[in-house]
Amino acid sequence: MQYIAPLVKLIEQFRVLPGIGPKSAARLAYHVLEMDKAKAQALAQAILEAKEKVGYCSQCFTLTDCNPCSICRSENRDRSFLCVVEEPRDVAALERTREFKGVYHVLHGALSPLEGVGPDELKIKELLNRLRDNQIKEIVMATDPDVEGEATAMYLAKLLKPLGIKVTRIAHGLPMGGDLEYADEVTLSKALENRREM
Ligand SMILES: [Zn+2]
Repeated sequence: MQYIAPLVKLIEQFRVLPGIGPKSAARLAYHVLEMDKAKAQALAQAILEAKEKVGYCSQCFTLTDCNPCSICRSENRDRSFLCVVEEPRDVAALERTREFKGVYHVLHGALSPLEGVGPDELKIKELLNRLRDNQIKEIVMATDPDVEGEATAMYLAKLLKPLGIKVTRIAHGLPMGGDLEYADEVTLSKALENRREM
């Protein structure tokens, strides 16, 4: 293939994205070059704008374009009921169920000693800070139903139960080894409804 520097550069940029191998990266890059200029500009602009305007909520650490996020600011949410999840994507998945009326806390990962992820790498300190105002009565662990998610839920339950907080775990209608965000709404609502005390 003829070496076209800007094209090679674009392919390299697509390759940093998760799940994109060399072939997909090339396909995307060629596709962008086929687009009319306005569409390509809109794509580039959307990336820049999202990076500039979206950040983490200072309370729950989900992604937001206003701080605190709309959930943390809402008058209609039950602040005594907190749901712990691994990623902002999981907040979006649970919100789609319209079942959960509490507030969230995003850990930004799960404990994984093999990958060097310990408690300090997650937003656990921040979670403990949120307990200070004594509003929270129940915390439901909605970490992924895989080894890391289970270990994280267990670790937090041990930490939180001595503080007199009810700690529950979402039920396992969810496929083991699965990813919370890919569960359908019905499964996710049921899992939340049938949570059990830890
Ligand atoms: Zn928030």
